[in-house]
Amino acid sequence: MDKIHVFNAGPCILPQQAIDNSIKALSNFKETGISILSVSHRSKEWEEVMDEVRANWKEILNIPDTHEVVLLGGGASLQFLYVAMNFLEKKAGYLDTGNWAHKALKEAKGIGNAYAIASSADKNYNYIPKGFDIPEDLDYLHITTNNTIYGTEIKKDIDCPVPLIADMSSDILSRKVDVSKYAMIYGGAQKNAGPAGVIFAIIKKDALGKVSRYIPTMLDYRVHIDKGSMFNTPPVFSIFVMNETLKWLKSIGGLDAMHKIDEEKATILYNEIDRNTLFSGTAAKEDRSIMNICFVMAPGKENLESEFLEFAKGKGMVGIKGHRSVGGFRASIYNACTIEDVKALADCMKEFETIKG
Ligand SMILES: *Cc1c(COP(=O)(O)O)cnc(C)c1O
Repeated sequence: MDKIHVFNAGPCILPQQAIDNSIKALSNFKETGISILSVSHRSKEWEEVMDEVRANWKEILNIPDTHEVVLLGGGASLQFLYVAMNFLEKKAGYLDTGNWAHKALKEAKGIGNAYAIASSADKNYNYIPKGFDIPEDLDYLHITTNNTIYGTEIKKDIDCPVPLIADMSSDILSRKVDVSKYAMIYGGAQKNAGPAGVIFAIIKKDALGKVSRYIPTMLDYRVHIDKGSMFNTPPVFSIFVMNETLKWLKSIGGLDAMHKIDEEKATILYNEIDRNTLFSGTAAKEDRSIMNICFVMAPGKENLESEFLEFAKGKGMVGIKGHRSVGGFRASIYNACTIEDVKALADCMKEFETIKG
């Protein structure tokens, strides 16, 4: 059996350094003789980790003092509700770029007046809508920067006349972001920032407190900012591994270095998809994601789909079956995925072409 190459859409693979350090902490956290699983979240040693992980987020993303980092359980899906609870007063706009964007909008509709200002549903979300107007009376505009299922991505921080809120679950930490342009950035850790079980929310402090509804304590970002994300027991282990992942990212040179590698990986795969007569990409070229690479069998070759899956499996490729709403294949090449992994997949596609082409 060849080496295994994991392209799962989430949870992602993590850097070996983060895994090794987490294994150590499982038996002995910071020389306390206590497992990270049993350490008190009120201990000095844990508080140090909380301070460190926030400081690492701030350093890596160059987060200005106007914003605070909050780490919570519940997944990005629960943030869809938090966002509406904390920011929606009169009217909110959503950019409908796919399934996750749609789910975020659904939660907001349950709270108040929210609607899609533009959508790419007409082409099964294979592009990012452009040239849409952003009404100036919105409480906020919500965008999903990377559409994990369809492989499209908003690759630049957009200019927005109203508070901008972004679900960056699947492309956070793959490029520099001008945080000052956002009222909030959030996402589940498990695509690029750590293991499942914790979300990050980077919130502009003075954008809060503008809604008149009662916000339940646990859903109120002000509470979590006040209490340093320790109003209740935080997901200790997930946060620990997140911190180790951030430390790894810093050690390889931060976002400049990471972005270069991520772009190189994406280019290798897109070049192969475009070159190879058996495959075609599904996302509009200008909107192609550097994180989730979606492709199908070329027209007339559809019958080879399951055969390629089997072939790739035999070569150690894991997790390349596309999401059911797009079909075909999807290679998720998050930060910890290596150039070597990506080359192995490209080689596998080449080899399949030699046999079947
Ligand atoms: C995976 C994903 C989510 C959902 O995350 P959960 O933590 O499973 O709730 C939301 N948005 C995007 C863009 C995602 O990729």
